[in-house]
Amino acid sequence: MDFRPCSRVACQAPAVATLTFDYADALAVLGPLAVTKSPHSFDLCARHAQLTTVPAGWSLMRHAALGGDQPQL
Ligand SMILES: [Zn+2]
Repeated sequence: MDFRPCSRVACQAPAVATLTFDYADALAVLGPLAVTKSPHSFDLCARHAQLTTVPAGWSLMRHAALGGDQPQL
């Protein structure tokens, strides 16, 4: 598998999760690293995945494989 860095500026950590925006439903889905890149998805490292927040009016759904909302420290 190709190395995919976190998409946050200045972050060199490897991506472990993919954040996808569903604009129709105002839903952001944080799941395991996607196999294919989509224009509406962003790869994130573990730290940035954990820090992810969504705009007001949006819902964030975390995949169970990422530990839900439990801190991973
Ligand atoms: Zn990062």
